[in-house]
Amino acid sequence: MPASATTAEGARVPTQHDLDTLSRQLNRPVRDVVEIPARCVCGNPLVAATAPRLGNGIPFPTTFYLTHPVLTAAASRLEASGLMTEMTDRLAVDAELAAGYQRAHESYIAARTAIGERAGTGPVPEINGISAGGMPTRVKCLHVLVGHALAAGPGVNPLGDEALAALAQWWTADACQCEGAWDDQAPVPIKDLSRHVKHLNALAAEETQAQAVQPDVAPAAAAKQDGAEAAAADAAADVARTDRAG
Ligand SMILES: [Zn+2]
Repeated sequence: MPASATTAEGARVPTQHDLDTLSRQLNRPVRDVVEIPARCVCGNPLVAATAPRLGNGIPFPTTFYLTHPVLTAAASRLEASGLMTEMTDRLAVDAELAAGYQRAHESYIAARTAIGERAGTGPVPEINGISAGGMPTRVKCLHVLVGHALAAGPGVNPLGDEALAALAQWWTADACQCEGAWDDQAPVPIKDLSRHVKHLNALAAEETQAQAVQPDVAPAAAAKQDGAEAAAADAAADVARTDRAG
């Protein structure tokens, strides 16, 4: 049996220490995190699950967020290698893969609904039928797919599993790489970095607007652009951080 990073039932609810660790991993205060769906073998969070509706009322489709700096940097490297384009091209010609990716999309939405029920955030009709990361027909964010693969366990998201296997040279589920990956002694960040908040809100807006009827396309285009720029900046920061740590 390969090691699985998926968190056992009882360890899903984040402790204050988990939330502090997430804030240190991301270098910003985390908000609306309701579960830790995957952990390092040492117990530190790998993935955070965010409520489907944020405390400020915004619907948030991107449930699983990769938080471990070694993993986020590795996913950024894979994205830079062009893997997303290659995967999207294969979806167009491989019916079996496309069907598996469609099932992953449905599983993502079902998992989000269950998380919303457990967290008590109630139904979020604004994001009905919307998942994340480009699912079900494209690949737009490997961090999303890897986060889903780790949260759901193997066999649920074929392209997430593939991306996870592809980053094995930098991270595997059976080895702890937390040492030096973030500053465990640093004060917990309390000041929000507006770029990150803008990025998260833009991602949420993009996912929501992607499949909604949108009479005015200008705001959607602006949100998409903003999200892409922030994502690129995040990726660069992730890589830089890990290069320093390594
Ligand atoms: Zn660890």
